[in-house]
Amino acid sequence: MKFLDEYRDANAARKLRQLIAGKTTRPWTLMEICGGQTHTIVRYGIDELLPPSIALVHGPGCPVCVTPLELIDKAIAIASQPGVVFCSFGDMLRVPGSRGDLFGVKANGGDVRVVYSPLDALKLAEQHPNRTVVFFAVGFETTAPANAMAVWQARQRRVKNFAVLVSHVLVPPAMNAILSSPTNRVQGFLAAGHVCTVMGYEEYEPLAARFRVPIVVTGFEPLDLLEGIYRCVCLLEEGRHGVENQYTRAVRREGNPHARQLIERVFAIGDRKWRGIGTIPASGYRLRPEFADFDAGRRFAVADLAVAESQECISGLILQGIQKPHECPAFGTRCKPDHPLGATMVSSEGACAAYYHYGRRKAE
Ligand code: SF4
Repeated sequence: MKFLDEYRDANAARKLRQLIAGKTTRPWTLMEICGGQTHTIVRYGIDELLPPSIALVHGPGCPVCVTPLELIDKAIAIASQPGVVFCSFGDMLRVPGSRGDLFGVKANGGDVRVVYSPLDALKLAEQHPNRTVVFFAVGFETTAPANAMAVWQARQRRVKNFAVLVSHVLVPPAMNAILSSPTNRVQGFLAAGHVCTVMGYEEYEPLAARFRVPIVVTGFEPLDLLEGIYRCVCLLEEGRHGVENQYTRAVRREGNPHARQLIERVFAIGDRKWRGIGTIPASGYRLRPEFADFDAGRRFAVADLAVAESQECISGLILQGIQKPHECPAFGTRCKPDHPLGATMVSSEGACAAYYHYGRRKAE
């Protein structure tokens, strides 16, 4: 296979569906932890192709969605300060904080810019030595190498007017939290292919052994997902656990050692709050003390902001696979993409936004 269309071939999809149906003898609940996979599943109706006894639930796989409201407010406060050029990927600009968003800061005269790489933000800092350029470093392990590289380069090139506001979250601790919950119903995971491209899948092996669950590293196209589901169902039906790699065209067990080494040099692991879920121990990256000068949270003395989430939002339950988006009473009525009440509607990768976008309006 070489081209994108081949991963969307209808005949191959039908064969995989038959294989899954032929293998399934009882109910199973599987979770993907990747907004891109959620998007593909809902867009192509993969969940509706499967035997009714297989339930797909959607985990906390959208980094924009799990960025805490307090941090959005902190970004807005920093971006509003005179002399600051605030840089971000485009998807963060429309994410609402408790009182507005970064687009609003821009509309009011703030210097908020969309960049395509943290290295572009670093270049801006070199071009504007009298301004402070802040990059909003949001994401899973996937985007950590580029952010680490920007900080590393800033130190090498002595760019003192560059800083990052870090909100990196890590997948394995979130899976651990889900599996440890007394209300957990997830029996198998589709691990995110892009995260494993960087990190490999060694970290998932102790999880699979401890909780006796199958974890299949899976890509993003429809056939990737169907094959990942098939392999997960095979492991479950045969009473086996462990980690398998469906996404062999991109993922090696050890991941990308150069990228991992760079991450380890720049970031340390610490506790991190996930929007809709709460604090998960050792689930995020923060800058190591030797890079503290590049920490925007430290450089700008913005007080910690306490923000209340909507009382009617059930995104915490959705992110843990306990409920589905259209089971929320506010879904599609009081909560829509242009007026999101909670974590999973704020980004197009969020599960609620995907359900809304692809017309899943009624509860099953
Ligand atoms: S539909 Fe809106 S309010 Fe309901 S769970 Fe999703 S984000 Fe929260």
